[in-house]
Amino acid sequence: MYFVANWKMFGDLRTLNSLDKVIKFSKTNKKNKLKIVYCPPNTLIRPLSKRLKKTKIEVGAQNCHHSYDYGAYTGQVNSKMLKNVGAKYVILGHSENRQLGETDNLINLKIKNAIKSGLKIIFCIGETLKERRDKKTNQVLKRQIEKGLKSIKNKSKIIIAYEPVWSIGTGVIPKEKSLIQTISFIKSRFIKKYPKILYGGSVNTNNSHKLKKIRNIDGFLIGGASHNPKKFIDIIQKTIN
Ligand code: PEP
Repeated sequence: MYFVANWKMFGDLRTLNSLDKVIKFSKTNKKNKLKIVYCPPNTLIRPLSKRLKKTKIEVGAQNCHHSYDYGAYTGQVNSKMLKNVGAKYVILGHSENRQLGETDNLINLKIKNAIKSGLKIIFCIGETLKERRDKKTNQVLKRQIEKGLKSIKNKSKIIIAYEPVWSIGTGVIPKEKSLIQTISFIKSRFIKKYPKILYGGSVNTNNSHKLKKIRNIDGFLIGGASHNPKKFIDIIQKTIN
């Protein structure tokens, strides 16, 4: 079971001290299948991966540039550079970046080059509220998966994260039946190629007991609630026990 913390634009060097609680928790936890991945801002990847060296917790990044090679891209960082400072994963296709103009084709290029750099991919897909109201959810997810993962041979490195856009940061989560149906839709179409599917969107300590019932999920991508180590541990405990 994966628990991926997406810190977004949060945290400084001091914040890392608070992770001692999570480190202690992961060391005492006996469930072998528990996988914790922290995706902090790029400024914290190196110090965090050093701190987590003797633990099972892994580090990821939140996005990368599409170019495999260095280039004149002011302010950008590519996947090789992230790997070099300790990232094992990278989140790609997040709706906050799609909203800034990332297309399916661009995400496809990023994924290909990030795999080439040796990173595992947390590939985000999800429909907007309008698309959901227009009953286009499955159509949108199918397009995002087909275009985003077009001609990618090495599928073993990809974890799909289903994150309905209307659920991110809003406190609203899909109804149990609807979430099970959507995950089943993704799995029935793509399970052979992409066996792991996470859910993301407003996962918190108050709704984790509901999400625990969604048996066809392989874990969670957690934004806001992952900033607080106590809450993060609480979510993990409520969903795995
Ligand atoms: C996210 O943005 O990936 C996310 C899951 O955010 P939140 O948990 O804050 O809704």
